[in-house]
Amino acid sequence: MATSNKLISVQHLVKEYNHGTVKALNDCSLDIAQGEVVAIIGPSGSGKSTLLRSLNLLEEPTSGQIFFDGVNLADKSVDINLHRQKMGMVFQHFNLFPHKTVLQNITMAPLALKKKSPEEAQKQAMELLERIGLADKANEYPNMLSGGQKQRIAIAGIIAMNPACIVMDEPTAMLDPKGRREVLQTVRTLNKNNHTTVVLITHFMDEAVQADRVIVVDNGKVLLDAPPKKVFSHVELLKSVGLDVPQSAELAFELKKSGISIPEDILTEDECVEALLKLLKE
Ligand code: ADP
Repeated sequence: MATSNKLISVQHLVKEYNHGTVKALNDCSLDIAQGEVVAIIGPSGSGKSTLLRSLNLLEEPTSGQIFFDGVNLADKSVDINLHRQKMGMVFQHFNLFPHKTVLQNITMAPLALKKKSPEEAQKQAMELLERIGLADKANEYPNMLSGGQKQRIAIAGIIAMNPACIVMDEPTAMLDPKGRREVLQTVRTLNKNNHTTVVLITHFMDEAVQADRVIVVDNGKVLLDAPPKKVFSHVELLKSVGLDVPQSAELAFELKKSGISIPEDILTEDECVEALLKLLKE
């Protein structure tokens, strides 16, 4: 049963397609606490998107259960639209209206749902834009922005609905490295300031490294579920399912394999350099 700080609890989730010939999710279980940033990684076709779509009620589970804030999402009383307001979803493509300004894009949903007066909605949108460093773009149109900026505005638009959780399916896949860094920074800022829970599918290991926790999905179930340092110390297991590991983690793993005494939980370049310098001094 879900406890109070568990925002999401997925229990033995199974999702079959094509009359059971495809098992996209196969007894998948995990918990996510309020305020956590969780990265989901896994090989292509392992079930990551199906999992996220199930959380957002875009897919109906074949069996198993999902609890959100203690409520079983299969309950007939669950209002799908209300649930989707509590759990915003960001996709690879930037969901912005091209003929509306940045400010209008952000205020549109809160206004349409009569959640806020126009003045309140505008004030909140400007605060969000300030927080993510894009206040000067308020009156511009999406086609005047970079990909990274568009995605950050789309994320701000979802945060304007005050969701408890934001789920993102490869939100940086279309971006260059600078755009990716900016989007991740925006996600972090909003997570810190608004305590929004973040569930992020990514195939960029440097993004997964920045999460509080990494869940590795393979063949429709959870293979590993631990903080990044722990997950990326399983270099051989991750490679066996076709996943990359951060370069520093791999270098540390190879050095350790050849008998050199180096910590096994190295993730960043700085940690790697520090460990190597220590070795040289010994
Ligand atoms: P991932 O996001 O990890 O790439 P998906 O969740 O998209 O994986 O897909 C998991 C498996 O389910 C794959 O084998 C995929 O082909 C299959 N699948 C996903 N959606 C459908 C669908 N609507 N109909 C049939 N098969 C599907």
